[in-house]
Amino acid sequence: MIKFLDLQKINLAYQQEIEEKLLHTFRSGWYLLGNEVKNFEDNLTRYIGSKYAIGVANGLDALRLILRAYIELGIMQKGDEIIVPANTYIASVLAISDNGLVPVLVEPDLNNYNIDITKIEDKISPKTKGIMIVHLYGRIIFSDDLKNIAAKHNLKIIEDNAQAIGAEWKGIRSGNLGDAAGFSFYPGKNLGALGDGGAVTTSDDELAKTIRALANYGSNQKYINIYQGLNSRLDELQAAVLDVKLKYIDTDNDRRREIAERYVLEVKNPNIILPELLDNGKEHVWHLFVIRTSEREKLQNYLTENGVQTLIHYPIPPHKQGAYREMNELHFPITDKIHSEVLSLPISPVMSNEEVLKVINVLNSAQS
Ligand SMILES: *Cc1c(COP(=O)(O)O)cnc(C)c1O
Repeated sequence: MIKFLDLQKINLAYQQEIEEKLLHTFRSGWYLLGNEVKNFEDNLTRYIGSKYAIGVANGLDALRLILRAYIELGIMQKGDEIIVPANTYIASVLAISDNGLVPVLVEPDLNNYNIDITKIEDKISPKTKGIMIVHLYGRIIFSDDLKNIAAKHNLKIIEDNAQAIGAEWKGIRSGNLGDAAGFSFYPGKNLGALGDGGAVTTSDDELAKTIRALANYGSNQKYINIYQGLNSRLDELQAAVLDVKLKYIDTDNDRRREIAERYVLEVKNPNIILPELLDNGKEHVWHLFVIRTSEREKLQNYLTENGVQTLIHYPIPPHKQGAYREMNELHFPITDKIHSEVLSLPISPVMSNEEVLKVINVLNSAQS
């Protein structure tokens, strides 16, 4: 069986270095807010090109903290609206509503599954304060038009960069395109920890200071609390692992690109819609390789029977979830179509060429 994602193999690729770092951290007796987090933050800052990186507990917290900090700074207030793609993982939307802000959903472009930038301006109201872009599946969504819309309406651009670490647009890394970005180091992400982890990157001095305090009980100085904060920190142990893996993220992403290119060029099945290969391959890090088919269940079963594990990202869109009953009647036909047709193939830096070929052959022999 070709696993959708072989996490054991992914981490064992760096076994010796990771074990040494873990042992070192374990023996150091210092487990929170120490050198490992500091080193990782410095290296992530350098890698992304931002002025700051702040380790936090997970990707959802990273996004929550960015918006909460804008509220504390008086740039946003409860009831304000944030534009967000209708086609995303629910965490993007949760970060907004959790802060008492109102998510305003925008349809995706069927060709790239990301927010349709041409549909954003129609949704802007006097209450709109930000646009959360999500580089879904690892593909950057950004343009000069988007920048101009944000500038014209005085909106913050927040990047949900959970899926696209390492991607670049015109030489700028994702996470450094907007005003602030949230990263997830959930084990299955391109840069994955051995548990939960996340980070915020930004070049905004005030925002960085506020987020650092908010994530540490609202304290900017021991036992001095200026905000009603939360506890959302990146562990030293996780930072130690992430610091090892960050060194290899470009190599890992390049391997993902090789596999994606083979899938796109070699899968020849008229019932399968493949993702676009970009002229500038750097804009995509292929966190997920997502195909579409109108007969998804049949194809998924066939793949399973032939030893290829697949997953669906995602089966139910946020606006159709019980968590957002107030949005259940909203109409997002492109989002609904995507959710009913997508299927994610195995892709990871540790897949062998034989495995890639097997996936291609099984797809080419499928009748649906
Ligand atoms: C994984 C993910 C998140 C949340 O990250 P966690 O670390 O799991 O909290 C947010 N947004 C997107 C698009 C994601 O894929």
